[in-house]
Amino acid sequence: MRAEIVSVGTELLLGQIVDTNAAYLARVLSEIGVSVFRRVTVGDNHARLLDALQQALAESDVVVTVGGLGPTEDDITRETLAEAMGDTLERDEATAHRLQAFFRSRGIRMAQSNLKQALKPMHGRLIDNPNGTAPGLIFERELDAFNDAPSGEATPPNPKSEIRNPKSIHTDARPGKIAMALPGPPNEFIPMVDNHVAPYLRAITGGGTIRSRTLRITGMGESSVEEKVLDLTHVDNPTVAPYAKLGEVHLRVTARASDIETAGRMIEERVKLLLERLGNRVYGFDDETLEAATVKLLTNARLTVATAESCTGGLLASRITDVPGSSLVFPGGVVNYSNESKTDLVYVPAEMIAEHGAVSAEVAQALAKGAITRFKSDFGIGITGVAGPDGGTPEKPVGLVYIAVAGADRVKIEKARFIGSRKDIRWRSAQTALTMLRDRVLELGSAS
Ligand code: AMP
Ligand code: MG
Repeated sequence: MRAEIVSVGTELLLGQIVDTNAAYLARVLSEIGVSVFRRVTVGDNHARLLDALQQALAESDVVVTVGGLGPTEDDITRETLAEAMGDTLERDEATAHRLQAFFRSRGIRMAQSNLKQALKPMHGRLIDNPNGTAPGLIFERELDAFNDAPSGEATPPNPKSEIRNPKSIHTDARPGKIAMALPGPPNEFIPMVDNHVAPYLRAITGGGTIRSRTLRITGMGESSVEEKVLDLTHVDNPTVAPYAKLGEVHLRVTARASDIETAGRMIEERVKLLLERLGNRVYGFDDETLEAATVKLLTNARLTVATAESCTGGLLASRITDVPGSSLVFPGGVVNYSNESKTDLVYVPAEMIAEHGAVSAEVAQALAKGAITRFKSDFGIGITGVAGPDGGTPEKPVGLVYIAVAGADRVKIEKARFIGSRKDIRWRSAQTALTMLRDRVLELGSAS
């Protein structure tokens, strides 16, 4: 079953508020096996909203609008959706009474415009809103025509109805379309989705589900990842989709199935295949961070690391210490921003800095070794570079960063040319350092 979410509100369109409701609804719909086909945002404008709704209804089985159910003139979703569904609105007396009682109990005079919120689709029903005055609306005109069922009953449509047959859904005269209008305030919207929309749609889809798992990959670019798994990205179910993140790549595996167990099995089979191709470039799953994965490796190997950071200003140490239990592997780190601090705290020879400059392979290596000496750790990491936006020269441009990982036996140094903002460059530097450290620990593991 396909769904489209239409968010209504000029403030959303202009970016004055973030559309958290649509994100929430999209997640819930996926979980109950409804494919979110498209999400659009429209301002409070009748013609454009009508156009968006007509398009949505032409292509999806379920259209859910978010917002625009208030009492004021710019709240036009109710009327416009009725128009798009070819339905009319009628006053629901019980709701009108409830509204009047609500205002009376608060000693406020109810404006006539509030009665808009008591309007109900001729072919459809209202959804209770215990947290606000605007009930939600479900338009089932086509469903009624299709099922020949009485409107306004309190139960969801018959799950056995033709709507389950995909052939009857995607063709011709849109039989079985459902539209829903939900209020914008999140404290009203979220309970309505959880308590009404999800159960209602679950009854129609018959309990299908969509599940995902994300593989997190480091030390490999998005296109190289894609190259290795290209054939799998062409498969429909489960789907495999790459996403480029800052300094890493994610592969999301998504399976659609009749139940959670089946979806889980499909995902695991596909993950196994992906792991065969990507090997230990996959450092973790779902929410696991690179620092968490690296700390875990160090902990298991009973190894420690210390840091001496210049351009990252302690970001690497901060990321490592974000991980609970990192005290077992991280005795400490220093921020060596000035040349003097490089010399005083981690013994980088002043002559070396004078000869090669603070941003150099030599200094990165000396920082890494100095960190080991200072903290008596197994590994030391040194980072020095130009984070920008100013301070770049033709020889040492913004984004040039040297990262050194020293162990007892040898030092590995990487000369990187990162792009992006100051924040991005710092993040990528820490990311590369963690990746290099992880690789060293993995090498040790495979050597022993
Ligand atoms: P409305 O239902 O359009 O009158 O919106 C009422 C209030 O709900 C707005 O002022 C916003 O603060 C909030 N709101 C509306 N739409 C959304 C949305 N899609 N996501 C988050 N908040 C929203
Ligand atoms: Mg609005």
